[in-house]
Parts: sequence; C-alpha cells; structure tokens
Amino acid sequence: MEIPEWQVHEYNPNLYLLRQSPCTDFEKPFIFLFFGKDKALLMDTGSRNGNLAPTLRRTVKNWLARNGRESIPLIVVHSHPHDDHIAGDAEVQAMHDPAIPVEFVSADLEPTKRFWGIEHWPTDIAHVDLGGRVIDMVPIPGHSAVSVALYDRNTALLLAGDSLYPGRLYVRDFAAFQTSTERLVRFTEGKPVAHILGNHIEQTSTPFLDYPVGTMYQPNEHELALSRGSLLELEDALLSMHGNAKRLALRDFTVWPVGPDFMIPAEKKKFEQHQIEEKQKMWDHTPQ
Ligand SMILES: [Zn+2]
Ligand SMILES: [Zn+2]
Repeated sequence: MEIPEWQVHEYNPNLYLLRQSPCTDFEKPFIFLFFGKDKALLMDTGSRNGNLAPTLRRTVKNWLARNGRESIPLIVVHSHPHDDHIAGDAEVQAMHDPAIPVEFVSADLEPTKRFWGIEHWPTDIAHVDLGGRVIDMVPIPGHSAVSVALYDRNTALLLAGDSLYPGRLYVRDFAAFQTSTERLVRFTEGKPVAHILGNHIEQTSTPFLDYPVGTMYQPNEHELALSRGSLLELEDALLSMHGNAKRLALRDFTVWPVGPDFMIPAEKKKFEQHQIEEKQKMWDHTPQ
C-alpha cells in the first residue's frame, strides 16, 4: 500500500489544504495554499521529512493548467517560527521553477513585519491583496513570539496556527496569549467566520480527550474546523484564570501552559517513552 506524503484537499478551486502524512512526522501539520488572480500565498512549509516541494509544484501546476496560465508568483509566509511549520523552507526556496517564482518571507519577526508592513507589533493589523483576494494578518504572540493569524475575506476562514486548534494549545507567554486572543475576538467581531482552522489535530472525537503527545495514527480524531464559538470559549477560559496560567481541558481543546512549572516529571517520562515508541514506526529512520 502506498500512502502519499501529503494529503491535498481542494477546499474550493482557489484554496487547498495540505496535510503532511503522519507516517513522515507525528506532528502531521496542515498548511494552506491560496490563489488570487495575481499571486498565490502559502502559509507554512511543513515539518521534518515532509518533502513538500513535489506536491506543492504539482498542486500549483494543476491550478495553472486549469486556469490556462503559464506562471504565478508564490508568496511563502508562516504561522510562526516553530520547526514543525518551517522545516520545508529550504526546499521551497530551492524550487527554482520559472512557472512558480517564490517570494520567501522568513518566519522571524523582522521579515514578517517588513513583508506585512507592520510598524507597531503586535497591535497593527495588516493585509495582502493577491488579486481579487484580500488576506488579513493579525499578530497573535503567546504560543510563540511571532505567531500570526490569517483571515481570508473570500471564504471567511480564519487560520489560527498553533494558537487555536483541536488539541493542546501550548501557551508560552500567558499574558501575551490572552491579549492576542482578545485581539482576535475583536478582529472577528461583526465579520463572518466560516471556520477557524489551526495547524494540528491532537484531539479525539470524544469530548475533552486528546491523543498522547507524539501519536501518529489517529483514526478517531476531531475534525479540524472550529467555530468562532471556540474562540469565545478560549477567551472566557483565559479570563477565568485571572492571570494565573493553568492547564484546563475544554470540550474541543486544552489550554496548556508550558515551562518548568507545568510539566510534572512522571508525565514528562511518559511523553518521552511514547515518542520513542511512535518514532520507531516512522518511515524515515535517518538519525535526526
Ligand atoms: Zn508551534
Ligand atoms: Zn505546531
């Protein structure tokens, strides 16, 4: 049986959701490819062992053929600079395909600010026009220092990265995370929100229950899509902590502060053991 390295889901003819196979990395992140009339935009390049370039080229070339076009510039941006979302950066930059000239924006703070034209981080909100398709960008530091959310006005999808998805919301800077959540609530006020899509699924289809960290095979996983109701639920949960970060399991996701105070040693051991077992099932056994 052959399992593709990437699953390509056509959300509509101008928007593709790509998911890395869990057989290549248990993080199995989602990435997103938008097409406007003038430019395409890719958010994230996947995790280690992703081998994204062939699938990306094929998807863009199919779009070009379908639209009777010879080329389209591709802007590459990121949800945030964690390894499981930038590991394919080098290979995407090295595509050198004349049909797909790449404008690469590194996930770090300065290049992100420069590309989006952000003067005051994280309070400014920016946008890019791909040609008949405007995508807004909202800075949402907290999970990482350079996390951003994207809002596609055409489909009313909100991409929340690792800051809101059905799984463990790892919070590194609680105060920033809370302020960012409030910023997203305000940003979406009065706007249609069809779905909120994050970068991972770690939740099972059973309410309140997540898969152990590092799980590859998730036959009963939660669907990717959350609603604006989840964003309001998150805001409410953070508010209820009164500034004291704590782990809190909700129906569709868990608030999970990280740092030395939040991981008990027995739990850490369990995580590590599970990761070792799962990694033995992976396709690529080259030493990391
Ligand atoms: Zn992350
Ligand atoms: Zn991630």
